[in-house]
Amino acid sequence: MTTLLFRDDAYLKSCDAKVVGINDRGGIILDRTVFYPTAGGQPGDKGTLTVDGSPIHIATTVYDDAKNAVHVPAAPVSLASGAPVSAVLDWDNRFRNMRCHSLMHLLCAAVPFPVTGSALTEEGGRIDFDIPEGHIPVKDELAAKINGWITQDHPITTRWIAEEELDANPTLVRTLWVKPPRGSGRVRLVSIGENDEVDLQPCGGTHLQSTGAIGPITVAKIENKGKQNRRIRLAFAT
Ligand SMILES: [Zn+2]
Repeated sequence: MTTLLFRDDAYLKSCDAKVVGINDRGGIILDRTVFYPTAGGQPGDKGTLTVDGSPIHIATTVYDDAKNAVHVPAAPVSLASGAPVSAVLDWDNRFRNMRCHSLMHLLCAAVPFPVTGSALTEEGGRIDFDIPEGHIPVKDELAAKINGWITQDHPITTRWIAEEELDANPTLVRTLWVKPPRGSGRVRLVSIGENDEVDLQPCGGTHLQSTGAIGPITVAKIENKGKQNRRIRLAFAT
């Protein structure tokens, strides 16, 4: 399985690696990578793999069934197993995804109702919540709460717990959108604020080091999407 370097350091922009193989759809598998594969509502990374001085443009990254990171080239390539590679992220794209994804944690923390879906969007991101009548948030109040957490610049940290411990605390898993990878015996928790003051949930995504880097946001829209389903759209103000 690919060693996923972004798990322990989401700010790594590049790494050296070796080609393990090319799958039957032309995807490149490395022994290690900084590229985040599409999962949990966060898009897969783009960037460049350089082999023998020649750049290969990577359009996106996905997981295969064996949970390897598969780097999808923009055009077909042939590579020998064992070939050394320099892997460099499209950092602007990844950093924006990290801002969006970290912001989605704050939205989730601010709206204490079940999540039914989420997506990162051009302007920021959105989450669908199952909210009973009479509990729909007021746009300005919601924006003030989230912007307050951003201004306070809370630290975002990770730690690992045993899967059994997670199973014994089912309330930790509030959302359907950030199901962390399981099967390794441990699950990564993402904490926001001192003593998990703002939020704590299992997540395999990439996050900022603190909430301040998200920057100011607005609540763009709260839409009706079915009987109890409300879609809340956030946008970056800058
Ligand atoms: Zn996350």
